[in-house]
Amino acid sequence: MGSELIQIKVASQAGLPGTPRSSSGATGGAASFAAWGLVNERITAKGACGVGRRPGPANVDPPAGTVATAGTLKTFYLETFGCQMNVHDSEKVQGVLMARGMTPVENHHEADLVLYNTCSIREKAAQKVFSRLGVFRKGRSGAPKLIGVLGCVAQQEGERFFERAPQVSLVCGSASYSKLPELLDQLETGKQRVTGLSLLTEECFETEMTRRDNPFRAYLTIIEGCDQRCSFCVVPMTRGPERSRPSDKILAEARRLVDQGYTEIQLLGQIVNAWHDPSPARLGFAELLSRLAEVPGIRRVRFTTSHPRYFTSDIVQAIDANPNLCDQIHLPLQSGSTTVLARMLRGYTREEYLEKIHGIRKARRAISLSTDIIVGFCGETGEDFEQTLSLIKEVEYDQVFSFKYSPRPNTLAEGSRDALAEEEKGRRLTELQELQRQIQVRRNQALLGESFEVLVEGYQARLGQAVGRSTTNRVINFPGRPEDVGRYLTVKVTSAGPNSLVGARAGSADLSF
Ligand code: SAM
Repeated sequence: MGSELIQIKVASQAGLPGTPRSSSGATGGAASFAAWGLVNERITAKGACGVGRRPGPANVDPPAGTVATAGTLKTFYLETFGCQMNVHDSEKVQGVLMARGMTPVENHHEADLVLYNTCSIREKAAQKVFSRLGVFRKGRSGAPKLIGVLGCVAQQEGERFFERAPQVSLVCGSASYSKLPELLDQLETGKQRVTGLSLLTEECFETEMTRRDNPFRAYLTIIEGCDQRCSFCVVPMTRGPERSRPSDKILAEARRLVDQGYTEIQLLGQIVNAWHDPSPARLGFAELLSRLAEVPGIRRVRFTTSHPRYFTSDIVQAIDANPNLCDQIHLPLQSGSTTVLARMLRGYTREEYLEKIHGIRKARRAISLSTDIIVGFCGETGEDFEQTLSLIKEVEYDQVFSFKYSPRPNTLAEGSRDALAEEEKGRRLTELQELQRQIQVRRNQALLGESFEVLVEGYQARLGQAVGRSTTNRVINFPGRPEDVGRYLTVKVTSAGPNSLVGARAGSADLSF
Protein backbone atom coordinates (compact mmCIF):
# COMPACT_ATOMS: atom_id res chain seq x y z
CA MET A 1 0.00 0.00 0.00
CA GLY A 2 1.14 3.52 -0.28
CA SER A 3 0.66 6.68 -2.22
CA GLU A 4 2.57 4.88 -4.91
CA LEU A 5 2.02 1.36 -6.07
CA ILE A 6 3.78 -1.44 -4.31
CA GLN A 7 4.83 -3.70 -7.11
CA ILE A 8 4.91 -7.35 -6.25
CA LYS A 9 5.31 -10.03 -8.83
CA VAL A 10 3.51 -13.22 -7.99
CA ALA A 11 6.65 -15.31 -7.98
CA SER A 12 8.14 -13.30 -5.11
CA GLN A 13 4.96 -12.72 -3.19
CA ALA A 14 5.76 -14.95 -0.25
CA GLY A 15 7.19 -12.08 1.78
CA LEU A 16 10.62 -13.63 2.08
CA PRO A 17 13.49 -11.47 3.17
CA GLY A 18 14.64 -9.54 0.18
CA THR A 19 11.29 -9.60 -1.55
CA PRO A 20 11.36 -6.61 -3.89
CA ARG A 21 8.89 -3.97 -2.90
CA SER A 22 8.55 -0.24 -2.71
CA SER A 23 6.09 1.43 -0.42
CA SER A 24 6.76 5.11 -0.28
CA GLY A 25 3.36 5.79 1.19
CA ALA A 26 3.11 3.04 3.76
CA THR A 27 4.53 2.04 7.06
CA GLY A 28 3.27 -1.39 6.20
CA GLY A 29 6.36 -3.11 4.84
CA ALA A 30 6.27 -6.83 4.43
CA ALA A 31 2.85 -7.27 5.94
CA SER A 32 1.21 -5.14 3.30
CA PHE A 33 -1.28 -7.87 2.49
CA ALA A 34 -2.83 -7.05 5.87
CA ALA A 35 -5.05 -4.40 4.54
CA TRP A 36 -5.83 -2.90 1.18
CA GLY A 37 -2.29 -3.53 0.08
CA LEU A 38 -1.84 -2.13 -3.35
CA VAL A 39 -0.22 -4.79 -5.41
CA ASN A 40 0.64 -5.25 -8.99
CA GLU A 41 0.31 -8.90 -9.76
CA ARG A 42 0.99 -10.69 -12.95
CA ILE A 43 -1.18 -13.73 -13.12
CA THR A 44 0.75 -16.25 -15.11
CA ALA A 45 0.77 -19.88 -15.99
CA LYS A 46 2.88 -20.56 -12.93
CA GLY A 47 0.49 -18.75 -10.61
CA ALA A 48 1.96 -17.86 -7.25
CA CYS A 49 4.22 -20.85 -6.83
CA GLY A 50 7.38 -18.98 -6.05
CA VAL A 51 10.42 -19.97 -4.05
CA GLY A 52 9.61 -22.87 -1.80
CA ARG A 53 5.88 -22.68 -2.38
CA ARG A 54 3.71 -25.68 -2.87
CA PRO A 55 1.31 -25.58 -5.78
CA GLY A 56 -1.99 -24.09 -4.73
CA PRO A 57 -4.53 -26.58 -3.43
CA ALA A 58 -7.26 -24.82 -5.35
CA ASN A 59 -7.52 -24.37 -9.03
CA VAL A 60 -10.16 -23.84 -11.62
CA ASP A 61 -13.14 -25.80 -10.51
CA PRO A 62 -15.75 -25.67 -13.27
CA PRO A 63 -19.19 -26.81 -12.21
CA ALA A 64 -20.38 -30.19 -13.53
CA GLY A 65 -21.63 -29.97 -17.09
CA THR A 66 -19.46 -27.01 -18.08
CA VAL A 67 -18.07 -27.42 -21.58
CA ALA A 68 -14.88 -25.55 -22.37
CA THR A 69 -15.27 -23.81 -25.73
CA ALA A 70 -11.98 -22.49 -26.99
CA GLY A 71 -12.60 -20.02 -29.78
CA THR A 72 -10.10 -17.91 -31.65
CA LEU A 73 -8.63 -16.68 -28.37
CA LYS A 74 -6.47 -19.48 -26.99
CA THR A 75 -4.11 -17.74 -24.57
CA PHE A 76 -4.34 -14.83 -22.13
CA TYR A 77 -2.12 -12.64 -19.99
CA LEU A 78 -3.70 -10.84 -17.03
CA GLU A 79 -2.03 -8.18 -14.93
CA THR A 80 -3.66 -6.76 -11.82
CA PHE A 81 -3.24 -3.39 -10.11
CA GLY A 82 -4.81 -2.39 -6.83
CA CYS A 83 -6.40 -3.86 -3.75
CA GLN A 84 -7.15 -7.43 -2.69
CA MET A 85 -10.62 -7.14 -4.19
CA ASN A 86 -9.01 -6.58 -7.58
CA VAL A 87 -6.65 -9.49 -7.00
CA HIS A 88 -9.57 -11.75 -6.16
CA ASP A 89 -11.68 -10.44 -9.08
CA SER A 90 -8.74 -11.38 -11.31
CA GLU A 91 -8.69 -14.86 -9.81
CA LYS A 92 -12.34 -15.23 -10.79
CA VAL A 93 -11.85 -13.72 -14.26
CA GLN A 94 -8.96 -16.11 -14.78
CA GLY A 95 -11.18 -19.03 -13.78
CA VAL A 96 -13.82 -17.93 -16.29
CA LEU A 97 -11.22 -17.72 -19.08
CA MET A 98 -9.68 -21.10 -18.24
CA ALA A 99 -13.11 -22.71 -18.14
CA ARG A 100 -13.51 -21.47 -21.77
CA GLY A 101 -10.42 -23.49 -22.61
CA MET A 102 -7.98 -20.56 -22.61
CA THR A 103 -4.47 -20.93 -21.21
CA PRO A 104 -2.66 -18.31 -19.12
CA VAL A 105 0.79 -17.29 -20.41
CA GLU A 106 3.64 -15.53 -18.64
CA ASN A 107 4.39 -12.90 -21.23
CA HIS A 108 2.02 -10.49 -22.96
CA HIS A 109 3.86 -11.11 -26.26
CA GLU A 110 2.61 -14.71 -26.24
CA ALA A 111 -1.02 -13.84 -25.49
CA ASP A 112 -4.02 -13.71 -27.80
CA LEU A 113 -5.81 -11.66 -25.16
CA VAL A 114 -4.07 -9.20 -22.83
CA LEU A 115 -6.10 -7.96 -19.87
CA TYR A 116 -5.32 -5.25 -17.32
CA ASN A 117 -7.39 -5.14 -14.15
CA THR A 118 -7.01 -1.52 -13.09
CA CYS A 119 -7.15 0.65 -9.97
CA SER A 120 -8.13 4.31 -9.78
CA ILE A 121 -8.04 4.94 -6.04
CA ARG A 122 -5.24 7.49 -6.53
CA GLU A 123 -4.05 9.28 -9.68
CA LYS A 124 -0.72 7.43 -9.89
CA ALA A 125 -2.45 4.04 -9.78
CA ALA A 126 -4.86 5.10 -12.54
CA GLN A 127 -2.00 6.23 -14.82
CA LYS A 128 -0.30 2.85 -14.65
CA VAL A 129 -2.52 1.19 -17.24
CA PHE A 130 -1.91 3.92 -19.83
CA SER A 131 1.83 3.46 -19.59
CA ARG A 132 1.34 -0.30 -20.03
CA LEU A 133 -0.87 0.25 -23.08
CA GLY A 134 1.79 2.48 -24.63
CA VAL A 135 3.80 -0.59 -25.65
CA PHE A 136 0.99 -1.85 -27.88
CA ARG A 137 0.59 0.21 -30.99
CA LYS A 138 -2.19 -0.79 -33.31
CA GLY A 139 -1.21 -3.16 -36.09
CA ARG A 140 2.34 -3.71 -34.82
CA SER A 141 3.55 -7.27 -35.37
CA GLY A 142 3.79 -9.28 -32.20
CA ALA A 143 0.88 -7.34 -30.68
CA PRO A 144 -1.80 -9.46 -29.03
CA LYS A 145 -4.98 -10.22 -30.96
CA LEU A 146 -7.01 -8.29 -28.41
CA ILE A 147 -6.50 -6.00 -25.43
CA GLY A 148 -9.06 -5.55 -22.67
CA VAL A 149 -9.22 -3.21 -19.70
CA LEU A 150 -11.10 -4.25 -16.57
CA GLY A 151 -11.82 -2.71 -13.18
CA CYS A 152 -12.00 0.81 -11.82
CA VAL A 153 -10.23 2.81 -14.56
CA ALA A 154 -12.32 0.97 -17.17
CA GLN A 155 -15.50 1.98 -15.35
CA GLN A 156 -14.27 5.53 -14.77
CA GLU A 157 -13.25 6.19 -18.38
CA GLY A 158 -16.00 4.14 -20.06
CA GLU A 159 -16.30 4.59 -23.84
CA ARG A 160 -13.67 7.39 -23.65
CA PHE A 161 -11.11 4.64 -23.18
CA PHE A 162 -11.33 3.79 -26.90
CA GLU A 163 -10.36 7.38 -27.78
CA ARG A 164 -7.42 7.48 -25.37
CA ALA A 165 -6.27 3.99 -26.32
CA PRO A 166 -7.63 2.86 -29.73
CA GLN A 167 -5.77 -0.45 -29.41
CA VAL A 168 -8.27 -1.53 -26.70
CA SER A 169 -11.24 -3.73 -27.69
CA LEU A 170 -12.87 -4.52 -24.35
CA VAL A 171 -13.71 -2.13 -21.49
CA CYS A 172 -15.49 -3.70 -18.53
CA GLY A 173 -16.09 -2.52 -14.95
CA SER A 174 -16.30 -4.91 -12.01
CA ALA A 175 -20.08 -4.59 -11.71
CA SER A 176 -20.37 -6.22 -15.18
CA TYR A 177 -17.97 -9.16 -14.78
CA SER A 178 -20.80 -11.68 -14.94
CA LYS A 179 -21.24 -10.51 -18.59
CA LEU A 180 -17.62 -11.29 -19.51
CA PRO A 181 -18.32 -14.62 -21.27
CA GLU A 182 -20.93 -12.89 -23.44
CA LEU A 183 -18.53 -10.00 -24.24
CA LEU A 184 -15.76 -12.44 -25.17
CA ASP A 185 -18.18 -14.33 -27.44
CA GLN A 186 -18.94 -11.07 -29.23
CA LEU A 187 -15.24 -10.34 -29.73
CA GLU A 188 -14.62 -13.84 -31.04
CA THR A 189 -17.38 -13.44 -33.60
CA GLY A 190 -15.70 -10.31 -34.95
CA LYS A 191 -17.14 -7.38 -32.99
CA GLN A 192 -14.46 -4.68 -32.77
CA ARG A 193 -15.33 -3.02 -29.48
CA VAL A 194 -17.41 -4.23 -26.56
CA THR A 195 -18.23 -2.71 -23.19
CA GLY A 196 -19.67 -3.79 -19.85
CA LEU A 197 -20.25 -0.54 -18.01
CA SER A 198 -23.65 -0.69 -16.37
CA LEU A 199 -23.66 0.01 -12.65
CA LEU A 200 -27.35 -0.82 -12.36
CA THR A 201 -26.91 -4.18 -10.78
CA GLU A 202 -28.03 -6.01 -7.69
CA GLU A 203 -25.84 -8.99 -8.53
CA CYS A 204 -22.46 -10.08 -7.23
CA PHE A 205 -19.90 -11.75 -9.51
CA GLU A 206 -20.88 -15.33 -8.70
CA THR A 207 -18.69 -18.02 -10.21
CA GLU A 208 -17.36 -21.35 -9.06
CA MET A 209 -14.62 -21.07 -11.65
CA THR A 210 -11.97 -19.37 -9.57
CA ARG A 211 -8.27 -19.90 -10.03
CA ARG A 212 -6.81 -19.05 -6.64
CA ASP A 213 -3.11 -18.21 -6.81
CA ASN A 214 -2.30 -18.00 -3.12
CA PRO A 215 -2.03 -21.57 -1.81
CA PHE A 216 -2.42 -20.55 1.83
CA ARG A 217 -4.97 -17.77 2.14
CA ALA A 218 -8.15 -17.85 0.11
CA TYR A 219 -9.97 -14.61 -0.54
CA LEU A 220 -13.73 -14.79 -0.25
CA THR A 221 -15.84 -11.80 -1.30
CA ILE A 222 -18.91 -11.29 0.88
CA ILE A 223 -20.01 -7.81 -0.26
CA GLU A 224 -19.37 -5.83 -3.44
CA GLY A 225 -19.69 -2.11 -4.23
CA CYS A 226 -20.04 0.76 -1.79
CA ASP A 227 -22.82 3.19 -0.82
CA GLN A 228 -20.77 5.40 1.53
CA ARG A 229 -19.94 8.39 -0.69
CA CYS A 230 -16.91 9.56 1.32
CA SER A 231 -16.04 12.88 -0.33
CA PHE A 232 -12.50 11.77 -1.33
CA CYS A 233 -13.31 8.31 -2.66
CA VAL A 234 -13.94 7.13 -6.20
CA VAL A 235 -15.06 3.60 -5.27
CA PRO A 236 -18.87 4.11 -5.30
CA MET A 237 -18.54 5.45 -8.87
CA THR A 238 -16.30 2.63 -10.06
CA ARG A 239 -17.65 -0.42 -8.22
CA GLY A 240 -21.33 0.41 -8.12
CA PRO A 241 -23.90 0.04 -5.36
CA GLU A 242 -23.45 -2.18 -2.33
CA ARG A 243 -24.49 -5.83 -2.89
CA SER A 244 -24.23 -8.47 -0.15
CA ARG A 245 -23.94 -12.17 -0.92
CA PRO A 246 -26.35 -14.52 0.89
CA SER A 247 -24.91 -16.32 3.93
CA ASP A 248 -25.62 -19.80 2.53
CA LYS A 249 -23.48 -19.09 -0.57
CA ILE A 250 -20.65 -17.69 1.57
CA LEU A 251 -20.70 -20.68 3.94
CA ALA A 252 -20.86 -23.14 1.02
CA GLU A 253 -17.81 -21.44 -0.56
CA ALA A 254 -15.94 -21.63 2.75
CA ARG A 255 -16.67 -25.37 2.99
CA ARG A 256 -15.47 -25.86 -0.60
CA LEU A 257 -12.26 -24.00 0.25
CA VAL A 258 -11.62 -26.38 3.15
CA ASP A 259 -12.20 -29.33 0.78
CA GLN A 260 -9.58 -27.78 -1.53
CA GLY A 261 -7.06 -27.66 1.31
CA TYR A 262 -7.29 -24.09 2.62
CA THR A 263 -7.19 -23.44 6.36
CA GLU A 264 -7.13 -19.62 6.21
CA ILE A 265 -9.74 -17.44 4.56
CA GLN A 266 -9.90 -13.69 4.21
CA LEU A 267 -13.32 -12.12 3.80
CA LEU A 268 -13.33 -9.18 1.41
CA GLY A 269 -15.52 -6.15 0.91
CA GLN A 270 -15.02 -2.41 0.42
CA ILE A 271 -16.95 -2.07 3.68
CA VAL A 272 -16.85 -5.68 4.82
CA ASN A 273 -18.77 -5.08 8.04
CA ALA A 274 -21.65 -3.37 6.21
CA TRP A 275 -22.51 -6.90 5.03
CA HIS A 276 -26.12 -7.84 5.68
CA ASP A 277 -27.66 -11.13 4.81
CA PRO A 278 -30.13 -10.93 1.92
CA SER A 279 -31.21 -14.55 2.59
CA PRO A 280 -34.06 -15.51 4.98
CA ALA A 281 -31.43 -16.46 7.62
CA ARG A 282 -30.83 -12.69 8.12
CA LEU A 283 -27.49 -13.16 9.87
CA GLY A 284 -25.57 -10.12 11.08
CA PHE A 285 -21.86 -9.70 10.23
CA ALA A 286 -20.71 -10.92 13.68
CA GLU A 287 -22.99 -13.98 13.38
CA LEU A 288 -21.52 -14.72 9.96
CA LEU A 289 -18.02 -14.59 11.48
CA SER A 290 -19.07 -17.09 14.18
CA ARG A 291 -20.68 -19.42 11.61
CA LEU A 292 -17.51 -19.35 9.50
CA ALA A 293 -15.40 -20.05 12.59
CA GLU A 294 -17.51 -23.20 13.13
CA VAL A 295 -16.79 -24.63 9.65
CA PRO A 296 -14.66 -27.73 10.36
CA GLY A 297 -11.11 -27.31 9.08
CA ILE A 298 -11.03 -23.50 9.09
CA ARG A 299 -8.19 -22.38 11.28
CA ARG A 300 -7.95 -18.67 10.54
CA VAL A 301 -10.53 -16.11 9.42
CA ARG A 302 -9.54 -12.51 8.59
CA PHE A 303 -11.70 -9.74 7.20
CA THR A 304 -11.01 -6.40 5.51
CA THR A 305 -11.89 -3.54 5.25
CA SER A 306 -14.05 -2.59 8.24
CA HIS A 307 -15.63 0.86 8.47
CA PRO A 308 -15.69 2.45 11.94
CA ARG A 309 -19.32 3.43 11.44
CA TYR A 310 -20.41 -0.22 11.31
CA PHE A 311 -17.89 -1.53 13.81
CA THR A 312 -20.08 -2.92 16.60
CA SER A 313 -19.09 -4.56 19.88
CA ASP A 314 -20.54 -7.94 18.81
CA ILE A 315 -17.62 -8.25 16.34
CA VAL A 316 -15.16 -8.15 19.25
CA GLN A 317 -17.39 -10.58 21.20
CA ALA A 318 -17.29 -12.99 18.23
CA ILE A 319 -13.47 -12.77 18.18
CA ASP A 320 -13.40 -13.39 21.95
CA ALA A 321 -15.60 -16.47 21.56
CA ASN A 322 -13.84 -18.00 18.54
CA PRO A 323 -10.05 -18.46 18.69
CA ASN A 324 -9.91 -19.03 14.93
CA LEU A 325 -11.13 -15.48 14.22
CA CYS A 326 -7.75 -13.76 13.87
CA ASP A 327 -6.42 -11.25 16.42
CA GLN A 328 -6.26 -8.53 13.79
CA ILE A 329 -8.52 -5.62 12.89
CA HIS A 330 -7.95 -3.06 10.16
CA LEU A 331 -10.00 0.04 10.98
CA PRO A 332 -9.38 2.98 8.63
CA LEU A 333 -9.19 6.31 10.48
CA GLN A 334 -8.44 8.65 7.52
CA SER A 335 -7.97 11.66 9.87
CA GLY A 336 -7.69 12.31 13.60
CA SER A 337 -9.51 15.62 13.28
CA THR A 338 -13.29 15.68 13.68
CA THR A 339 -13.46 18.72 11.38
CA VAL A 340 -11.66 16.89 8.57
CA LEU A 341 -13.68 13.71 9.17
CA ALA A 342 -16.86 15.76 8.74
CA ARG A 343 -15.58 17.16 5.43
CA MET A 344 -14.66 13.67 4.34
CA LEU A 345 -18.25 12.57 5.15
CA ARG A 346 -16.93 9.64 7.17
CA GLY A 347 -19.85 9.54 9.60
CA TYR A 348 -17.90 9.44 12.88
CA THR A 349 -15.94 11.80 15.10
CA ARG A 350 -12.46 11.40 16.59
CA GLU A 351 -14.05 10.55 19.94
CA GLU A 352 -16.41 7.94 18.45
CA TYR A 353 -13.48 6.32 16.63
CA LEU A 354 -11.45 6.18 19.84
CA GLU A 355 -14.40 4.62 21.66
CA LYS A 356 -14.37 1.74 19.14
CA ILE A 357 -10.62 1.34 19.65
CA HIS A 358 -11.06 1.17 23.44
CA GLY A 359 -13.70 -1.54 22.93
CA ILE A 360 -11.21 -3.53 20.82
CA ARG A 361 -8.44 -3.04 23.40
CA LYS A 362 -10.73 -4.62 26.05
CA ALA A 363 -10.90 -7.90 24.11
CA ARG A 364 -9.58 -11.03 25.84
CA ARG A 365 -6.79 -11.46 23.29
CA ALA A 366 -4.45 -8.59 22.35
CA ILE A 367 -5.82 -7.63 18.95
CA SER A 368 -3.40 -6.15 16.45
CA LEU A 369 -4.66 -2.87 15.00
CA SER A 370 -3.88 -1.29 11.65
CA THR A 371 -5.36 1.68 9.83
CA ASP A 372 -5.46 3.84 6.69
CA ILE A 373 -4.74 7.58 6.91
CA ILE A 374 -4.99 10.29 4.25
CA VAL A 375 -2.77 13.35 4.83
CA GLY A 376 -3.27 16.74 3.24
CA PHE A 377 -6.99 16.45 2.55
CA CYS A 378 -8.47 19.75 1.30
CA GLY A 379 -8.35 22.36 4.04
CA GLU A 380 -6.38 20.19 6.52
CA THR A 381 -4.70 22.71 8.84
CA GLY A 382 -1.51 22.20 10.81
CA GLU A 383 -3.71 21.75 13.89
CA ASP A 384 -5.84 19.08 12.13
CA PHE A 385 -2.68 17.22 11.19
CA GLU A 386 -1.37 17.44 14.78
CA GLN A 387 -4.60 15.76 15.88
CA THR A 388 -3.91 12.87 13.53
CA LEU A 389 -0.40 12.51 14.98
CA SER A 390 -1.73 12.62 18.55
CA LEU A 391 -4.29 9.92 17.77
CA ILE A 392 -1.57 7.70 16.28
CA LYS A 393 0.44 8.17 19.50
CA GLU A 394 -2.58 7.32 21.61
CA VAL A 395 -3.65 4.19 19.70
CA GLU A 396 -0.18 2.84 18.85
CA TYR A 397 -1.15 0.91 15.72
CA ASP A 398 0.90 -2.06 14.57
CA GLN A 399 0.68 -0.79 10.99
CA VAL A 400 -0.42 2.38 9.26
CA PHE A 401 -1.07 2.68 5.54
CA SER A 402 -0.73 6.38 4.82
CA PHE A 403 -1.43 8.30 1.63
CA LYS A 404 -1.19 11.82 0.29
CA TYR A 405 -4.65 12.99 -0.69
CA SER A 406 -5.17 12.56 -4.43
CA PRO A 407 -8.18 14.37 -5.96
CA ARG A 408 -10.41 11.92 -7.85
CA PRO A 409 -12.89 12.49 -10.67
CA ASN A 410 -16.58 12.82 -9.82
CA THR A 411 -15.99 12.90 -6.06
CA LEU A 412 -17.45 15.66 -3.89
CA ALA A 413 -13.99 16.92 -2.94
CA GLU A 414 -12.78 17.14 -6.54
CA GLY A 415 -11.88 20.70 -7.48
CA SER A 416 -11.98 21.99 -3.89
CA ARG A 417 -10.31 25.39 -3.56
CA ASP A 418 -8.64 24.35 -0.28
CA ALA A 419 -6.10 22.03 -1.93
CA LEU A 420 -2.74 21.78 -0.16
CA ALA A 421 0.57 22.05 -2.00
CA GLU A 422 2.12 18.69 -2.92
CA GLU A 423 5.31 19.56 -0.98
CA GLU A 424 3.31 20.16 2.18
CA LYS A 425 1.43 16.88 1.75
CA GLY A 426 4.79 15.16 1.27
CA ARG A 427 6.24 16.79 4.38
CA ARG A 428 3.29 15.69 6.50
CA LEU A 429 3.41 12.16 5.09
CA THR A 430 7.11 11.83 5.95
CA GLU A 431 6.55 13.12 9.49
CA LEU A 432 3.66 10.73 10.07
CA GLN A 433 5.56 7.75 8.69
CA GLU A 434 8.60 8.47 10.87
CA LEU A 435 6.40 8.62 13.97
CA GLN A 436 4.75 5.33 13.04
CA ARG A 437 8.10 3.69 12.28
CA GLN A 438 9.27 4.47 15.81
CA ILE A 439 6.04 3.05 17.25
CA GLN A 440 6.42 -0.15 15.22
CA VAL A 441 10.04 -0.62 16.31
CA ARG A 442 8.98 -0.23 19.96
CA ARG A 443 5.94 -2.49 19.68
CA ASN A 444 7.80 -5.20 17.78
CA GLN A 445 10.74 -5.14 20.20
CA ALA A 446 8.31 -5.65 23.08
CA LEU A 447 7.58 -9.06 21.52
CA LEU A 448 11.15 -10.38 22.03
CA GLY A 449 11.02 -13.77 23.72
CA GLU A 450 7.32 -14.32 22.92
CA SER A 451 6.19 -17.32 20.89
CA PHE A 452 3.63 -17.28 18.08
CA GLU A 453 1.86 -19.87 16.03
CA VAL A 454 2.93 -19.19 12.46
CA LEU A 455 1.49 -20.44 9.19
CA VAL A 456 4.60 -20.95 7.06
CA GLU A 457 4.08 -19.39 3.63
CA GLY A 458 7.50 -19.63 2.01
CA TYR A 459 11.07 -20.89 2.16
CA GLN A 460 14.15 -19.35 0.61
CA ALA A 461 16.76 -22.03 0.01
CA ARG A 462 19.62 -19.56 -0.51
CA LEU A 463 19.18 -18.20 3.02
CA GLY A 464 17.74 -21.34 4.61
CA GLN A 465 14.95 -19.06 5.83
CA ALA A 466 11.27 -19.79 6.16
CA VAL A 467 8.67 -17.04 6.47
CA GLY A 468 5.25 -17.16 8.02
CA ARG A 469 2.53 -15.06 9.55
CA SER A 470 1.04 -14.99 13.00
CA THR A 471 -2.69 -14.66 13.61
CA THR A 472 -1.99 -10.93 14.15
CA ASN A 473 -0.59 -10.93 10.59
CA ARG A 474 2.97 -10.22 11.71
CA VAL A 475 5.63 -11.51 9.34
CA ILE A 476 8.22 -13.76 11.03
CA ASN A 477 11.39 -15.06 9.35
CA PHE A 478 13.17 -18.02 10.89
CA PRO A 479 15.65 -20.75 9.97
CA GLY A 480 13.51 -23.46 8.41
CA ARG A 481 13.18 -26.25 5.89
CA PRO A 482 11.33 -26.52 2.57
CA GLU A 483 8.89 -29.04 4.09
CA ASP A 484 7.79 -26.44 6.68
CA VAL A 485 5.85 -24.58 3.99
CA GLY A 486 2.10 -24.86 4.56
CA ARG A 487 2.46 -26.04 8.19
CA TYR A 488 1.56 -24.30 11.43
CA LEU A 489 4.67 -24.03 13.66
CA THR A 490 5.47 -22.30 16.93
CA VAL A 491 8.19 -19.66 16.52
CA LYS A 492 9.91 -17.66 19.28
CA VAL A 493 10.85 -14.05 18.49
CA THR A 494 14.60 -13.38 18.72
CA SER A 495 14.88 -9.97 17.07
CA ALA A 496 12.57 -7.32 15.69
CA GLY A 497 12.59 -4.57 13.09
CA PRO A 498 9.88 -2.05 12.22
CA ASN A 499 8.19 -4.26 9.65
CA SER A 500 8.95 -7.85 10.54
CA LEU A 501 10.26 -10.19 13.20
CA VAL A 502 13.02 -12.78 13.24
CA GLY A 503 12.60 -15.93 15.28
CA ALA A 504 13.58 -19.49 15.97
CA ARG A 505 11.42 -22.57 15.91
CA ALA A 506 10.15 -23.26 19.40
CA GLY A 507 7.81 -26.19 18.98
CA SER A 508 6.88 -29.06 16.75
CA ALA A 509 4.23 -28.71 14.11
CA ASP A 510 0.79 -28.39 15.55
CA LEU A 511 -1.41 -30.35 13.20
CA SER A 512 -4.04 -31.25 15.77
CA PHE A 513 -6.70 -28.76 14.91
N1 SAM B 1 -13.54 1.21 1.55
C1 SAM B 1 -12.58 1.41 2.60
C2 SAM B 1 -13.01 2.53 3.55
O1 SAM B 1 -13.73 3.43 3.12
O2 SAM B 1 -12.58 2.53 4.69
C3 SAM B 1 -11.22 1.71 2.04
C4 SAM B 1 -10.86 1.25 0.68
S1 SAM B 1 -9.65 2.16 -0.25
C5 SAM B 1 -9.39 0.94 -1.46
C6 SAM B 1 -8.15 2.10 0.68
C7 SAM B 1 -7.67 3.40 1.21
O3 SAM B 1 -7.25 4.25 0.17
C8 SAM B 1 -8.68 4.23 1.97
O4 SAM B 1 -8.94 3.74 3.25
C9 SAM B 1 -8.02 5.59 1.97
O5 SAM B 1 -7.14 5.74 3.06
C10 SAM B 1 -7.22 5.57 0.67
N2 SAM B 1 -7.82 6.48 -0.31
C11 SAM B 1 -9.05 6.40 -0.86
N3 SAM B 1 -9.26 7.46 -1.68
C12 SAM B 1 -8.13 8.22 -1.65
C13 SAM B 1 -7.74 9.44 -2.26
N4 SAM B 1 -8.56 10.09 -3.08
N5 SAM B 1 -6.50 9.92 -2.00
C14 SAM B 1 -5.66 9.27 -1.18
N6 SAM B 1 -5.98 8.11 -0.56
C15 SAM B 1 -7.20 7.59 -0.78
